[in-house]
Amino acid sequence: MTDTLTCINPATGETLGSVPVSTPRDVDRACRKAQLAFDGEWSRNSRMRSDFLRSWADNIEQRRDEVAAMLTAETGKVRRESESEVALTVEALRFNSPLSRLVSGTTHELPDGSVGHVMRQPAGVSAFIIPWNWPIFLLFRDLAPALAAGVTAVVKPAPQTPLSLGLVLEAMPELEHEVVLSVPGGAETGSALTDHELVKVVAFTGSTHVGKTVAEAASRRFAKPVLELGGKGTSILAADANVDAALTACIQSGFLTSGQMCMANSRLLVHTSIYSTVVEELAERIATLTVGDPTDAATDMGPVISKQHGSLVQRFMDLARAEGQVIVGGGPATGIGLDGAYLQPTLVAAPLVDPRISTQEIFGPVVSVEAFDDIEDAVLRANDTQYGLSAAIWTQDSATAWSAARNLDFGTVWVNRYNRTFAETPSGGMKASGTGRSRGFEGINEFTELKHVNWEA
Ligand code: NAD
Repeated sequence: MTDTLTCINPATGETLGSVPVSTPRDVDRACRKAQLAFDGEWSRNSRMRSDFLRSWADNIEQRRDEVAAMLTAETGKVRRESESEVALTVEALRFNSPLSRLVSGTTHELPDGSVGHVMRQPAGVSAFIIPWNWPIFLLFRDLAPALAAGVTAVVKPAPQTPLSLGLVLEAMPELEHEVVLSVPGGAETGSALTDHELVKVVAFTGSTHVGKTVAEAASRRFAKPVLELGGKGTSILAADANVDAALTACIQSGFLTSGQMCMANSRLLVHTSIYSTVVEELAERIATLTVGDPTDAATDMGPVISKQHGSLVQRFMDLARAEGQVIVGGGPATGIGLDGAYLQPTLVAAPLVDPRISTQEIFGPVVSVEAFDDIEDAVLRANDTQYGLSAAIWTQDSATAWSAARNLDFGTVWVNRYNRTFAETPSGGMKASGTGRSRGFEGINEFTELKHVNWEA
């Protein structure tokens, strides 16, 4: 009997649908089909790829309302976030469409009179393993440049979100051979994909814990892991920071998707001279956020993905409460009348917050605020976590901004802004936040092999 994945709407507890779980045999079939497509015209014809990416973008855009509605139903995020996820997906495809025609190498005149061509060739069948929080955009952020490079893809969506992937795959333009195949399932399906002999690159987006297992499995057979993992998004507010702008950015990203974002700005390090003002103002703003039905336009924050995940987040809130550090929120949001895990947006503050809260990834609607006296100490404290995904420095002084940006060990550092990413610029993490980069030309290069062809002249 075939196992099935049942998809539950986290906002209501209702069943949305189900899909069959892909077995290792299904994974094998998908990888072989992807290899067949790779061996055909796809990997050699950049114009074909460019047209394909552009048409796919157009098709998804035509179905944007349907896809956005499904994203909200599967993830519990508010509708405007789902709309922005669809727009970012379309943008990733459109940006990479012309770039597929520009993948190129270099030519060298060598001292022995020979000529060296250094070519970039598509690496081969690539696996994409995706989390549930931004399931379409996080796929296309890597997949669009990978397809531009000429690879073919086998995608494993998160078990919570296979239906939105199903919709975007339905919108895929038809070719003689399928260049993107999907294998819904959980850890077992993912591990069959990571272990498959035909898979040359494993692009994984998810937790640091699972990322380590995936990287080990891929490396055992010399496949290349590209890893986008967890984070502890941190903002440093110097004494001269524009507090209003910093807090607006913090609210926008700290509670986006109920704080279930790798780049969520969940930690503020604030100069002592403005610490009380920041705590007071942030508390006021957080208290005005509306938690509820994510399909209601007046809602700021929907539920977290499941009751089980809600309990994990609640443990961090309880820890902060035990330390007397909860300023706003700290528990379930009540009176919503829907069967989901709704949590209060929470502010935890103390001159020194418990390091389990200030340095671990909570992945829920919790922002912590700490005080510092010396900016160099703030940078050291920001770096003192296993993660290195995204950080910001807020100051009017360019020397302070540059020095902090230079010394923060994070893959993205913003100055006087937060959570702005672009198809043009590479995105990724340092330390336990990952290896490799998505987006920009770097995102394409991750899915290529370099070959030196040396000619006797
Ligand atoms: P997760 O690590 O639990 O799962 C991610 C994916 O891996 C899912 O598709 C899952 O089914 C699959 N998987 C699980 N075990 C596997 C195995 N043994 N082999 C292969 N695949 C396996 O993460 P999640 O709960 O879905 O997502 C939340 C995490 O993702 C957070 O830590 C968050 O920070 C991270 N994330 C990172 C980024 C980034 O860009 N750095 C973006 C979004 C989310």
